Amino acid sequence: SDDNNDVAPVQSSSIDMQLRCAVTELNPNYDFITAKYPEQQLREIPRNKLTLTRLLGQGAFGEVYEGSLKNLCANVKELPVAVKTLPALSMDQAEKDFLMEAVIISKFMHKNVVKCLGVCFEEHPRYIILELLEGGDLRTFLRDSRTKGDHACTLSMEELLKLALDIANGCRHLEEKHFVHRDVAARNCLLTSRGPERIAKIADFGMSRDIYSSDYYRKGGKAMLPIKWMPPEAFLDGVFTSKTDTWSYGVLLWEIFTLGYMPYPGQTNSDVMHFVASGGRLDPPDKCPARLSKIMIMCWNSVADIRPSFSEIIELLDMCLQDDEVLNANVSLCHYPMSDCFKD
Ligand code: ADP
Repeated sequence: SDDNNDVAPVQSSSIDMQLRCAVTELNPNYDFITAKYPEQQLREIPRNKLTLTRLLGQGAFGEVYEGSLKNLCANVKELPVAVKTLPALSMDQAEKDFLMEAVIISKFMHKNVVKCLGVCFEEHPRYIILELLEGGDLRTFLRDSRTKGDHACTLSMEELLKLALDIANGCRHLEEKHFVHRDVAARNCLLTSRGPERIAKIADFGMSRDIYSSDYYRKGGKAMLPIKWMPPEAFLDGVFTSKTDTWSYGVLLWEIFTLGYMPYPGQTNSDVMHFVASGGRLDPPDKCPARLSKIMIMCWNSVADIRPSFSEIIELLDMCLQDDEVLNANVSLCHYPMSDCFKD
């Protein structure tokens, strides 16, 4: 599969060459990036169809804005969007990394993965246009759902399970495409809204983008890695497979059912590496129903092959949704010192 015209419509052949060279031999996502998905090429959108309205936050490259997109297709007059920007004076490497992010996101077409609607790459500043996810990130949402004082939660077990299922479905889509995300965590999931109709989506491909970058090792090596979400074979041997994402997903489940605690409260990354490598594991949240704890524990098997696939995880979560014992359980209470729970 060396004949890659995936990203050809919007980039010069020289960037294309460099992009391919940046894909390392040991990269399990290599086939994914070089495979052909002609129907999902990057779509260049005329800049004048776009209005930026409000700053949403700061991304790795530049600001992220809320905006609207006019007349994208015949029956949609105006579409709310999020626009990632790349400052005009960016380095060559940032240009490539930014493009890579658009290429990666555009490979997916699933309700639980953020959609890329198109790009403005012909002029500066360059834009990546994404569907707008107005509910913010999952971790903040979970933390905000704690009512202060009595530790009760404004969300039901059913709502939490549905969030877990949303992300498992997104992960299954990545798994089917043999794509390893490498950074499945509550902070990287975004919500369509905060209300009961909310849908959670996997939305940050920064880590999978960065491994294509020749700048990767300069960006800080281990200090940049999400150690608390990684299985031992990943931080010890650098092995990443879909079962890496399964482990991280188990930690994400723990985050959901503790309403957004920092995993391994009070422990540093270095503590956690030693602890996990020698067989230590997170305790499932207090009073977590056994059926649910078991899923987390399966995700954290030291033998990667034995960890469940995302299809299996979805089946197990579906059974939780049909089990009154799970549905009627109290959403867990804090049993760690509060000060440790929200530290990053
Ligand atoms: P980067 O991965 O480049 O660091 P992020 O994805 O973290 O950037 O985005 C920075 C900010 O923009 C975050 O606050 C995030 O919540 C927000 N954001 C990113 N994508 C969207 C989106 N599709 N809809 C709404 N907000 C978004």
